[in-house]
Amino acid sequence: MQKWIWLFCITIICTLFVGVGKAEASNESGKRYIGLHDRILPIEDIRVIDGDTKVPLKDIAKYLYVPVYTKDGTTTIRKSGKEIIFNHSTGATTLDGLDQPWEPIASIDGELFISVKYIARETGFQFEYFQQYHTIRIYRNEFNHISHKAFEEVIKAYAAGEQPVSTTKKATVYLTFDDGPNQFTLINHATLEKYKVPATFFFLGNHMKQNESIVKTVSTSGHYIGSHSMTHNRALVYGSTESFIAEMKGGADIIKELTGETAYLVRVPYGSKPLVTESMQKSLRDNGFKMWDWNVDSNDWRYTDKQADQIVKNVQDGVTKATKSGDKDIIILLHDRSQTTIALPKIIEWLQKEGYTFKTYEPDKHITQNFLRDPLL
Ligand SMILES: [Zn+2]
Repeated sequence: MQKWIWLFCITIICTLFVGVGKAEASNESGKRYIGLHDRILPIEDIRVIDGDTKVPLKDIAKYLYVPVYTKDGTTTIRKSGKEIIFNHSTGATTLDGLDQPWEPIASIDGELFISVKYIARETGFQFEYFQQYHTIRIYRNEFNHISHKAFEEVIKAYAAGEQPVSTTKKATVYLTFDDGPNQFTLINHATLEKYKVPATFFFLGNHMKQNESIVKTVSTSGHYIGSHSMTHNRALVYGSTESFIAEMKGGADIIKELTGETAYLVRVPYGSKPLVTESMQKSLRDNGFKMWDWNVDSNDWRYTDKQADQIVKNVQDGVTKATKSGDKDIIILLHDRSQTTIALPKIIEWLQKEGYTFKTYEPDKHITQNFLRDPLL
């Protein structure tokens, strides 16, 4: 009698294992995927040519925001200072004028296919391969992305026809305000309080001296304050490495004095590229600073109060584009200016409606976002 029960159990267990095995192998039918950061790209026509995975150039270029031009029998790709040219009559590809010894781009029935690894590498992406799932994932190191293991779950869910959780979760946005403190800082601050949204301010040392109470108010509300130099004067800030670091430190010292907080994060005036030299970059690191540029520019300073809607639109367009390219942390550049105070409520309402989460800068969960691509800043 017992023997039968054992046999029965073994049969059940075997059935379970075979079942699990089948489910695991559901993506081994030969279906291939291309991942970008935390999601699978909806590219259908993925081909393996001579052991190399290729996809339609027009598809992958769209997702990587790589401009492609076709003219006079050649197709040109320009990105990150590089130029890749495909010659339609010879089938040859050159990179910055150098012949490529293989065929990273191939023309098949009039459609251009490009090697995924090639376009990723040449436009500044890393890539990893998930052999079991025939999937190549490309990503930028400086953008937050889920682990290799977690991405396997995304592939499995996608193969099973589910919408993976990680692609439905919207990005985090960081509203950043430069050039205060001034009278408009208080209006922006009141708007943030009204909508219960945290933000990050980059204050100027000389303005802080004149507006000590604003610095304290903003800090007490839980917003992060970083240094944006003392003077914002291009000649003074970028005159030498010594003056540069003195300008950034001067601001941080005043923040410490007024709020008790150590301001590790700086934003350099006019953005880090091309003004920050290698020596200045090193000096920032040596002094324990982190540095943020931005990935969405509102261009608010260009507009009048009456044109404030254009600022809202710039933010909407920039955030939409950043989201499509897989950015999980979106840092928006704004200023403490009159026109920005008018645009801000609409910007916040739109971001909230779209489901974005707002955060202030958190020093212990630092996110790298600088034009120099310095992972240490
Ligand atoms: Zn500024």
